[in-house]
Amino acid sequence: MTNNKRNLIERLNAGPVICAEGFLFEIEKRGYMSSGEFVPMVALDHPEVLENLHKEFQHAGSDIVQAFTYNGHREKMRVIDKEDLLEPLNRSALKIAKKIANNPLGDEFNLMAGNISNSNIWKQDDKKSQLEVEKMFNEMVGWAVDEGADMLIGETFYYAEEAYKALQVMKQTGLHSVITIAPMGENIMRDGVPIIDTCKELEQQGGEVVGMNCHRGPTTMMPYLKEIRKALMCHIAALPINYRTTNENPTFLNLPDNNGCNCKTPHKTPFPTALDPLQCNRYEIRNFAKEAFDLGINYLGVCCGANPMLIREVAEAVGLKVPASKYRENMANHYMFGTNKRIPKHIKDYQDKA
Ligand SMILES: [Zn+2]
Repeated sequence: MTNNKRNLIERLNAGPVICAEGFLFEIEKRGYMSSGEFVPMVALDHPEVLENLHKEFQHAGSDIVQAFTYNGHREKMRVIDKEDLLEPLNRSALKIAKKIANNPLGDEFNLMAGNISNSNIWKQDDKKSQLEVEKMFNEMVGWAVDEGADMLIGETFYYAEEAYKALQVMKQTGLHSVITIAPMGENIMRDGVPIIDTCKELEQQGGEVVGMNCHRGPTTMMPYLKEIRKALMCHIAALPINYRTTNENPTFLNLPDNNGCNCKTPHKTPFPTALDPLQCNRYEIRNFAKEAFDLGINYLGVCCGANPMLIREVAEAVGLKVPASKYRENMANHYMFGTNKRIPKHIKDYQDKA
């Protein structure tokens, strides 16, 4: 163990950097969060569960330990009438992330990232809502700096102006940052700014790592990434969701499924509780990561739908060996489909009827 800790940009200049996102869906699946409401109370209610998920992502190759404060902002805490827990929740999530980042599995420390995201109250041309959001960003970024964040991530913005504001607040700290946007199904930012123009503007305003996360699966994110990579000089980030979005339904928010959904909400599509059959398999994620890396995109990960197996897949797709590589598939020893010489012939012969 050395005291080695390169900063984000040094790492990106040297090669791929992996970041696991998607904590919301994964913690919900594990039974520690209410879907729909989606507040990361887990940092206070079951810190050991959150700590363990960070460890699993670290084991799978995530270089960055992103504090799980997504939706842990003042407005959301007001919605659930727990505003008094805002600061304790943020500090707890940050402390947990810091603890994991400071206990790496390799010979270099991980980077702990503070996190701000889409506020869902930002309104175009409405100074009052925008000031409210700026205050929320400021207080969360302040706690992140306080708790020793190595870097900051602003993500899932679908208003261009809100992303610009997030970048501005993050830059004031002097820490390196990542800013990623998540345009909705109209393929334009909600305030009318084209996707590529938004990314160009973020770079103009000093963005060091600019790109896309969430809402879109590999198929509907990749075409934009290609254009972004061509248009920008800075490092690019690519963190798709793990779902098979289509040109008709570019985001998972309206992705249909013939089996529908029984969640009894007014929403008619499977989002967010019945998306399971629409997931990508690991090889689709692997291909995405390889293609993005080959384009020159070095900041890679998976957002909603991420799990440690997929993070390992991303890491290995770009040539990294991670602790979890020890357990990657070994079909040679499968009892029926394997090639191991101990597998009896009568079992092998049954493959096509299994
Ligand atoms: Zn997401």
